[in-house]
Amino acid sequence: MDISSLLAPLNQAQRKAVAAPLGHHLVLAGAGSGKTRVLTHRIAWLIQSQGISPSNLLAVTFTNKGAGEMKERIENLLATPINAMWVGTFHGLTHRLLRIHWQEAQLPQAFQVLDSEDQYRLIRQVLQNLNLDEDRWSPRKIQWFINSHKDKGLRPQHIEDGDNANTWQMIRIYHNYQDYCNRNGLVDFAELLLRAYELWRNHAPLLSHYQNRFTHILIDEFQDTNAIQYAWLQLLAGDKGALFIVGDDDQAIYGWRGARVENIQQLTQDFPTIGITRLEQNYRSTQIILAAANAVIAHNAERLGKNLWTQDQGGELIQIYRAFDERDEARFIVERSLAWQAQGRARADIAVLYRSNAQSRVLEEMLLQARIPYRIHGGLRFFERAEIKDTFAYLRLMIHRDNDPAFARIVNTPPRGIGDRTLAQIREKAQQAQISLWQATTQLIITRYLPQRAMHALYEFQQLIENITIAIEEFSLPQKIELTLNRSGLLSHYQKDSSERGQSRLENLKELMNAAAQFKPEEPHLNLLSAFLAHTTLESDDNTSSEGWEDCVQLMTLHAAKGLEFPLVFITGMEEGLFPSPKSLDEPTGLEEERRLCYVGMTRARNHLYLIHADQRRLYGSNSCPKPSRFIREIPAKLICELRPQTYTPINSPITHKPEWNLVANNTDFQFGQRVRHHKFGEGTILDLEGEGDAIKIQVNFNQIGPKWLSLTYAKLQII
Ligand code: ATP
Ligand code: MG
Repeated sequence: MDISSLLAPLNQAQRKAVAAPLGHHLVLAGAGSGKTRVLTHRIAWLIQSQGISPSNLLAVTFTNKGAGEMKERIENLLATPINAMWVGTFHGLTHRLLRIHWQEAQLPQAFQVLDSEDQYRLIRQVLQNLNLDEDRWSPRKIQWFINSHKDKGLRPQHIEDGDNANTWQMIRIYHNYQDYCNRNGLVDFAELLLRAYELWRNHAPLLSHYQNRFTHILIDEFQDTNAIQYAWLQLLAGDKGALFIVGDDDQAIYGWRGARVENIQQLTQDFPTIGITRLEQNYRSTQIILAAANAVIAHNAERLGKNLWTQDQGGELIQIYRAFDERDEARFIVERSLAWQAQGRARADIAVLYRSNAQSRVLEEMLLQARIPYRIHGGLRFFERAEIKDTFAYLRLMIHRDNDPAFARIVNTPPRGIGDRTLAQIREKAQQAQISLWQATTQLIITRYLPQRAMHALYEFQQLIENITIAIEEFSLPQKIELTLNRSGLLSHYQKDSSERGQSRLENLKELMNAAAQFKPEEPHLNLLSAFLAHTTLESDDNTSSEGWEDCVQLMTLHAAKGLEFPLVFITGMEEGLFPSPKSLDEPTGLEEERRLCYVGMTRARNHLYLIHADQRRLYGSNSCPKPSRFIREIPAKLICELRPQTYTPINSPITHKPEWNLVANNTDFQFGQRVRHHKFGEGTILDLEGEGDAIKIQVNFNQIGPKWLSLTYAKLQII
């Protein structure tokens, strides 16, 4: 491909950025303006026009899915494979580095990555060991304390307690936790970054090797980098490396997790020669969607400020649907999705976004009922499901006997008569002797310290692990998993469960073997099983996976949607106290971050955007009657079409248009939203009424069977 055709699909400003001189460059621009496209073309341009070898490039994306897509696009642009280039997330890249240099990083070769649930469990165990009460020392808060300090590059010895007894205790817990991880070869997500940073900082020859290798460093979604990621990049760039950075301060949505949008300004100070390009044309969304998103984000005070425009004229109005409750919200989405499909459009074009993972349950239920295939990105991710984690725990323990979280997870799964008391005794022994649970078990067996039955069960368990380890050695990765499932008794344990859930567990296990069969490690010389286990932990970290983007409706949190785009987007739960979230309301910076999240959500839509709020919502087991989100009111009324009569008034201007539906026109005693009882279908809520006189039809959403149309004359509904 020649250079002119590489630059042809770009506008003037984009071209300027792609072909910017070989120094540091920053592209600062709004949503959908082509930042990711520019970054991808820059890589192709470096290789094609500047003759730079792919092995000299390192590109950082925000999700694993993003990494896969970027590689594919570049390969398509250049029509040649670029395997030698490192592309991945910060976690993925640092993990790769630590696997190669485990010795210098002072890690055991078989070190294992802890996901956040494992980390949480481990913290609870550390609290127990220290005889600290969980009610007083919340494991979640401690998890946050540890991770946020690691994200700033701080080890326990670097933190000042300021003569505060609380802080002193937290530091002590962090210390103990870290000792524990070090003893057992465990690395949490934040540790990946910190360890990789220390690896380079403490090993000058290694750093200089990588500085010479990665002469060009490219980073997408830079606004969400944290302090340690920034420090890592600074080390790598050194005096010679060229940074190419793209970002948007209006899309900084991970401040709560330690991301520092200030890094953008920091960059211009630390690299004063940096060139800056601003992109202002949006290619993704209709004019209406863009105007609405711009109006919302304009309410934030802390902005660098940009002016986004599109060549598109008009577009469909933003549709606001006021649902009765969360089931009606989901029903509405199902109905619109079916209509979309009926027009021959792809299901994968539809994204349903929500603020909190817990909102997906009802959506899933209704989609299942309507037989609409969907895929969740986020929530209980595939690799986090219990059956998958059980299987992994066997594999982990087989690789590394001192993996305590794995041991504790499966010592009695499937049940083999090892009770909580026995486990507590093992823990006590391990704590006293500062050894792993596995080693403590061995000692307890040798010293015959436990009751006969428990001892026998533990002995059998250890034998089982030893035997499977030997038995699977020569087999391929999927065969290893299959054999482990069989010999451990896990498979027959799940097979006994004939319920739908049991069935889906078996399907998931099949899917796991499938995933193993398709797995290709980045570093070919690594142990395949270790590499696979680490890959699955990292995949489940960022809410998106690189697989499974086929024709399913896409469900995900607003956070997980960053960088993506869809022709049709539903944002659900647009309610005060849910979005913006209750926590964010305590401080202005929190509210601004929520508003940026709303901006991210809205700008995912290309053509159609639905914002939904409900009058009543049941979430986390309690009911509420929330007000519509302030973000809806921040959209000028002329850009909105309401699908139910509204009672609120937009902040900026009065409502000047009529609602699209008027459901109470039929002159009956029945009204939408009313609860009714049918002699056969039971209780439900009225969703819709149609027609006049004897021909009135009524749609009721029954608790048992879902929505159904009935003739009002024959249905004999009772108002309840
Ligand atoms: P976000 O801020 O959401 O990450 P972005 O700035 O990275 O967005 P891209 O995803 O690169 O934007 O581009 C948005 C859409 O616009 C994509 O579909 C892309 O292919 C398209 N696009 C970008 N630039 C052009 C162009 N010059 N001509 C046509 N389409 C373009
Ligand atoms: Mg992008």
